[in-house]
Amino acid sequence: MRTVVYPGSFDPLTNGHLDVLQRAARLFDRVIIAVASNESKTPLFTLAERAALVQEATAAMPNVETDYFDGLLVDYVARRGATAVVRGLRAVSDFEFEFQLALMNRKLNEQIETLFLMPKDTYSFLSSRLVKEIARLGGDVSSFVPPNVQAALRQKLHLPR
Ligand code: ADP
Repeated sequence: MRTVVYPGSFDPLTNGHLDVLQRAARLFDRVIIAVASNESKTPLFTLAERAALVQEATAAMPNVETDYFDGLLVDYVARRGATAVVRGLRAVSDFEFEFQLALMNRKLNEQIETLFLMPKDTYSFLSSRLVKEIARLGGDVSSFVPPNVQAALRQKLHLPR
C-alpha cells in the first residue's frame, strides 16, 4: 500500500489544497493530510480547528485521512509508513522555497521523496493568506474555499451572514 503525506498549515484549507489532494488521491492508495501545528506562524485557526475543517471537507474521499503533527516532517512521514510527501506548486515564486525544503528533507531522510503537483490554473493565484485578507475585508470567498471553511471564516472574523 502506497501512502503519501500532504503536509501544510491549512490555515484555512482552500480549493487549491483540495485540487492537489484530489490529484494525489488518484495516484496513491492512501493520502494523509497532515496539518502542521506551526505556532510560529500565528495561525488564525487553532490546530484542532484547522484539522476539523480538513476532516469535514474531505469526509467523502475514501482514501484520504486527516492527522496533525508537530516536530520534524520526515520523522512523522517515516512513523506513518509513508514513502513520499506531496506539495503543491502554484507558480515560480513557490519554487525556490519548496526546492530548498525538499532537498533539506532529503538530507534528513534519503528514503522519502518529495513530489510536486500543479493545481488547475484557476487556483494558481489562491493562497490561504489572501483568502483570509479578502474575508476580513468583507469580500466573497465562496469560490475559493469549501462551504464549511467559508462558514468558519465568518464566525471567526465575526462577519455578518
Ligand atoms: P505551508 O504553510 O506549509 O506552506 P500551506 O497550507 O500554505 O502550508 O500549503 C500547503 C501546501 O499546499 C504547499 O505545498 C503549498 O504550496 C500548497 N498550496 C497552497 N495553496 C495552493 C493552491 N492554491 N494550489 C496548489 N497548491 C497550493
